[in-house]
Amino acid sequence: MTAGPRLVLLGRQGSGKGTQAEMLAERFGINHLSTGTMLRDSAHAGIAAGLEAKALMDQGELVADEKVIAVVEERFSNPAEISRGFVLDGFPRTRVQATALQRILESAPLDLVIDLEVPEDIVVTRLLERGRADDTEDAIRRRLDLYESETAPLIELYGTLDIIERVNGIGDPDAIHKQLIDLVEGRVERLHASV
Ligand code: AMP
Repeated sequence: MTAGPRLVLLGRQGSGKGTQAEMLAERFGINHLSTGTMLRDSAHAGIAAGLEAKALMDQGELVADEKVIAVVEERFSNPAEISRGFVLDGFPRTRVQATALQRILESAPLDLVIDLEVPEDIVVTRLLERGRADDTEDAIRRRLDLYESETAPLIELYGTLDIIERVNGIGDPDAIHKQLIDLVEGRVERLHASV
């Protein structure tokens, strides 16, 4: 079996990366790993660490690197999870997480990082319309600030590794999806052998 693509989606909250990650996972038959969803699930399950994380999530703060890294490490402890291929959504969000990811993936490095670009004013409108319980205006502002200070530097980092593509995230989700498929297939030579 040919291994699936190993992808990361970067983008502000509300950029549509969750939707695009889901569609890519389905298209390529790979895992969709959202650390936000994993953290919310552990909070719903009433796990103490999850409840602690939820308080931070509700305020728009980041959960501690070591906690999020442990969640991802656990998922990737089975090498088959890596070789099957994956799209990471919401991870890494900091330099420390990006370094940990490189270590976790070892000999199967990332194929492509996609930065879904949507300006701040547009994502604020989208998030307020989405109306999730943790989407208060203060929390949204805090998340956007943290995106600029903690996550945006990763764009440069992945740029130096020459594995990042920047995509305009405004427009029809299906059209954006097609664009992403082309980028992934263009990058990941080994996919051509499997189709
Ligand atoms: P998301 O579902 O990706 O929008 O994430 C929701 C919230 O979960 C974020 O605002 C953070 O509080 C937390 N979270 C998710 N992923 C991470 C991560 N990689 N690092 C730190 N906190 C995270």
